[in-house]
Amino acid sequence: MKDRIYLDYAASTPVDREVFKVATPYYTDVFYNPSSTHAMGQQASCVVERAREQCAAALGCLPSEIIFTSSGTEAINQALCRTVFSQGKKHVVVSAIEHDSTLECAKRLERDGYDVEYVYPTSDGIITPPSLSAVLRRDTALVCVMTVNNQVGTIQPIAELSAMAHDCGALFFSDGVQAVNSCDINVNKLGADMFALSGHKFYSTKGAGLLYVKTGVDVHPLVLGGGQEKARRAGTVDVPAVVAMGAAIERAVNYREFYVKHADAVCKKFLDTLEYGRAVSVGAPKVGDIVTVVFDGIDGGRLAVALSYSGVCCSVGSACSAGSATPPQTLVAMGENASCAVRFSFGKPTTEEQAAAAANIVNDVVARIKK
Ligand code: PLP
Repeated sequence: MKDRIYLDYAASTPVDREVFKVATPYYTDVFYNPSSTHAMGQQASCVVERAREQCAAALGCLPSEIIFTSSGTEAINQALCRTVFSQGKKHVVVSAIEHDSTLECAKRLERDGYDVEYVYPTSDGIITPPSLSAVLRRDTALVCVMTVNNQVGTIQPIAELSAMAHDCGALFFSDGVQAVNSCDINVNKLGADMFALSGHKFYSTKGAGLLYVKTGVDVHPLVLGGGQEKARRAGTVDVPAVVAMGAAIERAVNYREFYVKHADAVCKKFLDTLEYGRAVSVGAPKVGDIVTVVFDGIDGGRLAVALSYSGVCCSVGSACSAGSATPPQTLVAMGENASCAVRFSFGKPTTEEQAAAAANIVNDVVARIKK
């Protein structure tokens, strides 16, 4: 394991050691139920509220606008499936490059009688204002476009797209799961009415996410039960996980400027060393920590397996769809040779030396396959 090079940080990041230290006492010592009204429960409740304030500061919103969830997927399900019916309109617009958690909710809405329309990206993986304008209608209830694409790393023009949705009287939701490390996630600047995050993408734990819901947006619970999270999400809050998420988001914001430079340098080193393949979306606005390379004539799944045997751990599309025979939908929507694509994603621990070493392994493996 030690000699392997992990280039799959878009699938998951390690928990930051400082974050882990901050969260540990809430597993073992302050383990109380934050809904308990006694003093010890209230001690746990206080730290949950402190974490909510940290997340709110990163998002530029009110703490009361944050619902803690168990994952990005859950937050996305709640945003799509539990707000749209109160809009009283039947048309929903979803970008064709969304994560499966959004696309599957869109299919559910279709089955429930909604008129779901997909908006397609440019060949670079960008959802442009004119392409959104072509599908918006007066009866559009909701528009969903992610902030950063998880397969090719493109940064979408969210502020422009959300303004257009609002002009039509629609709500705007953005999946910000891949955005925290590299992008400003101030929801007011983005113009999002709802925004989803997932802790394990920014050096916090798995099993914790959040949904920002702007005050006044009528969101119903997805998980039913007790009255936690102001009756918007039942279930006992995972105190250490949200404490970790609060600490991690604060660190991500403070570290962002440095991180962007680091990710750009690592990505450049990787691509400069690579002798084969075609990196996609490199001319578009994108984050440095995700890059997809198309190796025409080579099956991406087969290449990723061969790379794993040779010590480079990367993925084909998103980790959640790994093992499925369908090629990454973003690349399909871009008109790319999706079945020949491999995603490499970098993180805080990735060094330029590792990036070069990994690219050299890719060179050797591709040369072997081509023979
Ligand atoms: N949205 C995007 C863009 C993602 O990359 C992911 C995870 O890969 C998710 C949503 C789902 O998040 P979670 O793993 O917390 O359910």
